[in-house]
Amino acid sequence: SKDQRMPSGWLAIHTFPNNKKIFCKEIQTNLLNLRYAYGSHERKEESMCGIVGYIGEKDATPIILNGLKKLEYRGYDSAGLAVIENGSIALRRDAGKLEKLITLVNNKPVSGNLGIGHTRWATHGVPSANNAHPHISGNGKVVLVHNGIVENFLELKQELMAENVQFQSDTDSETIVLLVERFLSSGKGLIDAARSTFELLRGAHGIVLISSDEPDKIVAAR
Ligand code: GLU
Repeated sequence: SKDQRMPSGWLAIHTFPNNKKIFCKEIQTNLLNLRYAYGSHERKEESMCGIVGYIGEKDATPIILNGLKKLEYRGYDSAGLAVIENGSIALRRDAGKLEKLITLVNNKPVSGNLGIGHTRWATHGVPSANNAHPHISGNGKVVLVHNGIVENFLELKQELMAENVQFQSDTDSETIVLLVERFLSSGKGLIDAARSTFELLRGAHGIVLISSDEPDKIVAAR
């Protein structure tokens, strides 16, 4: 069956912990083949949130905001987006309703052809602006949204902290983007850095990340 609400060119990942009925489907987008994954709507009581990503010729911002609006009914406590604007990552995020994010964007507009958005259902760290997704790497070049829980994040975080890596949030998710940054600084490209990072993670996830150094791609994993 098809989710008719999602036009082509979208990437949507909804994670349903404990729901065995998740399945994947490949869709064609303007620039890339992306994996499109969604689950059945049977278990609305589970913690669910949303991820939207866009890469293409249009302005990513309204597409992301509309996508998040469609995922709003799933429940969330924070919302945010990141768009690559003139070569650097512009971030807007806060705790609270999507309306708040829309106001943030209206007051300080962002536009670009590549972006990601997220509605968060907090598991690690209170709902706050710093804990809201997307999470950005220390050098400001990689940005990530994440659904789910990194079960071994404490161990990974301690490893990074021992290398003096700074954290800006209390989330498990930030660990992922900081690991990607560490692999990038060892000379890997974005896809390889993401792959090496995903191999370290335990748990069930939906992850999407982009980099201002490689604006021709969007990396998604589930
Ligand atoms: N564990 C992450 C957090 O607490 C992601 C939660 C979610 O799936 O929205 O930020």
